[in-house]
Amino acid sequence: MTESVSNLDPELRRQWDELAAEVRRHRDLYYNAKPEIPDADFDEIFRRLQRLEEEHPELAVPESPTMEVGAPAAVSSTFDNVEHLERMMSLDNVFDEDELTEWLARTPSGTYLTELKIDGLSLSLVYRDGVLERAATRGDGRVGEDVTANARVIDDIPHELTGTEDYPVPALLEVRGEVFIALEDFGEVNELRQAEGGKPFANPRNAAAGSLRQKNPEDVRKRRLRMISHGIGAREGFSPASQHDAYTALAAWGLPVSPYTEQVHSVEEVVAKVRYWAEHRHDADHEMDGLVVKVDSYSEQRALGATSRAPRWAIAYKYPPEEVTTKLVDIQVGVGRTGRVTPFAVMTPVFVAGSTVSMATLHNQTEVQRKGVLIGDTVVVRKAGEIIPEVLGPVAERRDGSERAFIFPTLCPACGTRLAPQKEGDADWRCPNTRSCPAQLSSRLTYLAGRGGFDIEALGEKGAQDLIRTGILGDESELFDLTAEKLLASKVYTTKAGKVNASGEKLLANLAEARNTELWRVLVSLSIRHVGPTAARALAARYRSLPALVDAPAEDIADTDGVGMIIAESFKSWFEVEWHRQIVDRWAAAGVTMEETGGDVAAQTLEGLTIVVTGSLEGFTRDGAKEAILSRGGKASGSVSKKTDYVVVGENAGSKETKARDLGLTILDEAGFVRLLETGSAD
Ligand code: ZN
Repeated sequence: MTESVSNLDPELRRQWDELAAEVRRHRDLYYNAKPEIPDADFDEIFRRLQRLEEEHPELAVPESPTMEVGAPAAVSSTFDNVEHLERMMSLDNVFDEDELTEWLARTPSGTYLTELKIDGLSLSLVYRDGVLERAATRGDGRVGEDVTANARVIDDIPHELTGTEDYPVPALLEVRGEVFIALEDFGEVNELRQAEGGKPFANPRNAAAGSLRQKNPEDVRKRRLRMISHGIGAREGFSPASQHDAYTALAAWGLPVSPYTEQVHSVEEVVAKVRYWAEHRHDADHEMDGLVVKVDSYSEQRALGATSRAPRWAIAYKYPPEEVTTKLVDIQVGVGRTGRVTPFAVMTPVFVAGSTVSMATLHNQTEVQRKGVLIGDTVVVRKAGEIIPEVLGPVAERRDGSERAFIFPTLCPACGTRLAPQKEGDADWRCPNTRSCPAQLSSRLTYLAGRGGFDIEALGEKGAQDLIRTGILGDESELFDLTAEKLLASKVYTTKAGKVNASGEKLLANLAEARNTELWRVLVSLSIRHVGPTAARALAARYRSLPALVDAPAEDIADTDGVGMIIAESFKSWFEVEWHRQIVDRWAAAGVTMEETGGDVAAQTLEGLTIVVTGSLEGFTRDGAKEAILSRGGKASGSVSKKTDYVVVGENAGSKETKARDLGLTILDEAGFVRLLETGSAD
């Protein structure tokens, strides 16, 4: 240790030594692609060290890891070391609005840039006379690993820049960017990795880092790496006035820049952007873990300068972590509405993104293998906003040999029936006892009572399970024959004194009301494979009566807008089953409507129109906007194409808006959307 540290209180020195060693160790693991702990945990250790040094400035020696960027390249690296032309810095983080406001007060400016922070791997590209000469990882900021051959197979990285009249290609350009793997590609990348005999990656960041460091560029190509530029280093023949101008030039030359970068002109606007993206983290096309705020002007940047590790003119606002590690205690299976048997992870409870998580779906056997998790593994769990928690992958380095593989059961855990795939080669296994498997029955009941079905508020999962378990309902056909007397056998719908309780009364009232619902809700409630609300609405609107629909030939049904042959055939074959028809008959006998009454149907103003809504609207939620389109006979699409009739653009719309403009589509604001809903025309 250094002298300044050795003169200190020994306890303080011990604390500093431990923290510094921990930071160095995890940083090395992080940059050399095998991190043991999630980023958020690292951030916490790093901040503890920073705080200790703030309280005792004598500890803040030049060798402290708080003064360093990244970590030296691995000694055993297969790549040559190369020196960056201009140093690559790291970014300082803030974690709340107070810290952000303090930073903004230290860096007053008329224009800030806000950029989404991608959690990937930094890369530096050197273009000489427009030709890609070299690509290097960040390393310790001065020296990185030469990964040029691998960078050449990343689609987003041009081999040659295209000059334009406004932006001639500069003699020299050092571009900095982030290389990452999209979450949607991660599963396949992990599968590929295991097929090649490697251990699965814990999360997309590790996968990106590991992928970029492969020896054979052909293997790198398969990993679907992407890049977004986030700065420039050395340059000749190019002197932009601001970061924003630089991005405009990079885009003109064919380099990937983010569509989410925005110029804002006040401290209030910066804070508003931070709040906006905290709510809309998952609306971007890629993963993000924070918002980077930069002073836009290069002359202001130069005046502010840098510390030893990070520029003073930029800060990363880190959002709360969505990934944590925990123990995978067991893998069990559940049986769903359609008999699908789904493995799920049972974990040591862990707090992430605002709630405690102890279970997560693993989808199917293939998915368990693809993720490469073993029972007993330490796993990375991700929970993103409203999205259900997901196990990303194992921290394979933490294995001690006691882990065991999950073996898929052969019998249904709910009814003991032998499980089988529905068709040969299906990834999903099912319990074939559709009619009376208690797990399937209670899931079907819960589903038909849901918002997209009969909307029976008093019938939830617990109630459904109770009605089946007690034998009050043999199956869903008996639902509308339910009486107060029958309910007395229930545990959920009775008082301790053995009378029907308030929920029970409500259930009976709900059922009475649900008899006169819209026809599409009845269709959805039958749990016919592929017949969800969208298809059901289209069918109900066209045929207006269930008997008419049942009599229609499959070809005719398939001709319905948004339906097609798969749904039509699924519909027809459902009605071939005797006990299925009995459900409809008993419901009809109990007074459930089988006709479209037509009273509440919205005018079909949008028939034949495909509409994309992007960004956030004031008066509609995402689902609300979709509902408004569907109920008027329109098609709500998630992606912009030439076939799109209208694109409704809300705040912070992003890449879909850009694409719509490129395709020359009709773009509407919210007022235009409301007009369109009412009249079917945007004029
Ligand atoms: Zn079963």
